[in-house]
Amino acid sequence: MESSDLGSDISSVLLSEEQLQTRLGEMAEQIDRDYAGKDLLLVGVLKGAVMVMADLSRRLEHRVQMDWMAVSSYGSGTKSSGVVRILKDLDSDLQGRNVLIVEDIIDSGLTLSWLLSNLRSRGPESVEIATMLRKPEAAKVEVDVRYVGFDIPTEFVVGYGLDYAELYRNLPFVGTLAPHVYSGS
Ligand code: 5GP
Ligand code: MG
Ligand code: MG
Repeated sequence: MESSDLGSDISSVLLSEEQLQTRLGEMAEQIDRDYAGKDLLLVGVLKGAVMVMADLSRRLEHRVQMDWMAVSSYGSGTKSSGVVRILKDLDSDLQGRNVLIVEDIIDSGLTLSWLLSNLRSRGPESVEIATMLRKPEAAKVEVDVRYVGFDIPTEFVVGYGLDYAELYRNLPFVGTLAPHVYSGS
């Protein structure tokens, strides 16, 4: 019988639950300071940003609205295609709003730079980005990311919202997968 236990599929923990939560607290304090006296709309990018959105927003003292967008840039594999499609658009009008995009991870940055110009064309007051994780590749793209949780090595990670074939999103930490997961044995 196939195992349904998460633990045996993880080869190492890159960021513990405690590390993630501590850093989110710091990011929330900074966001509270930066947006004092301004309206704030958090835009979460489904599905990966669900955990970051839930935990970051609960740490904010600021009164916020939340909206969600679903875009696809990856298939079930591990490589960015560069092709972005809107699967679910926002319900909110961005005219005059201060928008903070909440992301799980920035890898090539392709998804994000596309998303930025898309949202900026809708007449917002400002658009900034908060991401839990960022890989070195992202530095090559001319995108100014205001809030970064952790810079991590170029390695495929799962957990805390991030999936492999739609699995492992519910891990409370960020880790790497054991080789047997990829080989299917
Ligand atoms: P980018 O367009 O910046 O290359 O990729 C953005 C999206 O690719 C992320 O939102 C995420 O869904 C996926 N992605 C990039 N790197 C990883 C990774 O290491 N692990 C997982 N599970 N997804 C990733
Ligand atoms: Mg994402
Ligand atoms: Mg994915």
